[in-house]
Amino acid sequence: MWLNNLIMADTGQNVNINVEGEKIMAVTSPTGETHSGLTFENAIVFPGLINSHDHLDFNLFPQLGTGIYKNYSEWGKRLHADYKTEINAVLKVPQPLREKWGMYKNLLGGVTTVLNHGKNVRIKNKLINIYERKHDLHSVAFDKYWRLRLNNPFKRKLPVVIHSGEGTDRAAKKEIDTLLKWNLLKRDLIAIHGVAMRSEQARQFKALVWCPESNYFLLNKTAPISELKLDTKILFGTDSTLTGKWNIWDHIRLAQKNLMLHDMELYRSLNSTAAAIWGEHTGTLFMGMTADIVIAKKKETEPMDAFFATNPADILLVMSKGRIRLIDAALYPLIATNLKHRKYSQIKIGDSYKYVQGDLTGLIKSIKKYYPEVQLPVEAVSSKNSV
Ligand SMILES: [Zn+2]
Repeated sequence: MWLNNLIMADTGQNVNINVEGEKIMAVTSPTGETHSGLTFENAIVFPGLINSHDHLDFNLFPQLGTGIYKNYSEWGKRLHADYKTEINAVLKVPQPLREKWGMYKNLLGGVTTVLNHGKNVRIKNKLINIYERKHDLHSVAFDKYWRLRLNNPFKRKLPVVIHSGEGTDRAAKKEIDTLLKWNLLKRDLIAIHGVAMRSEQARQFKALVWCPESNYFLLNKTAPISELKLDTKILFGTDSTLTGKWNIWDHIRLAQKNLMLHDMELYRSLNSTAAAIWGEHTGTLFMGMTADIVIAKKKETEPMDAFFATNPADILLVMSKGRIRLIDAALYPLIATNLKHRKYSQIKIGDSYKYVQGDLTGLIKSIKKYYPEVQLPVEAVSSKNSV
């Protein structure tokens, strides 16, 4: 199918994109001839976002904490003591349902690849790429056997992803040195957070996943990205709603305001830089790449400003591996016959309506059964009240 009359968020170029199967077959300049498919007006296009850090099963939690912790160990201990009731209420929801909501949280924001930290998820129909070719260790403080696991020769080919330097005190900085010292097999290390990281340490990591929203919430400080970017690759992560808002675009705008990455560096941390580190054939809109594509309303004159002004309600289409996973309700009738063999749920985000693949309506209902007081950012719309 063709996606016509789009403006590239990074270059401002006007393009038509042809998708066949899972791949982008062509990216052409409009010549006046009309291709069958969807034609957009005043819309930007960009590669599906890559969220390099999340805990999918933790996304029903509200933000819990006071923002005055020295490091994640202190927060972890206080969390269980101070928020027992809140935590138990969420944990009543079975883990597979929580994981599924985590997947939808990402999809609704335009994420088409997410790195879930921890055990592999049990979602059957994955609507986005939940990347699992990695070896996760929680952290030096919370993973008792981290030295053994880090030096497991059977896993040596997988990159190690570990929370590291999540604090503002000496302990957080020292923890990074301990990790580096024990990397006896010289495995590829990818750190999450790195708030206490220094340049000489950063050089020894393949990449650092920056999660500014989570860092400011817990520690009121974030990693010195403007320095560390000279020594390692910077990727972007949201972490879960336990420490951040559900909307990834709020995280991105916070990062943009903070000026430690230029706009284009920040943009790439969400697509091509991350795709290169994870070895995925995505993150750029070129012929032959996986068709992970997001189209959104162009709300600003400059395409790049429009990218940074995006919110989930503005997203008109999310395609993952060539399949439409989310489409704006205004466009849905134009393509409904092509989509009729798959189930889509109608939902409301802010003032706008979207169709999302799968039984999101049923999922919301099930979550509310276990956790009636849940605050979700979307509402299910019954088909009787269809727009
Ligand atoms: Zn985390």
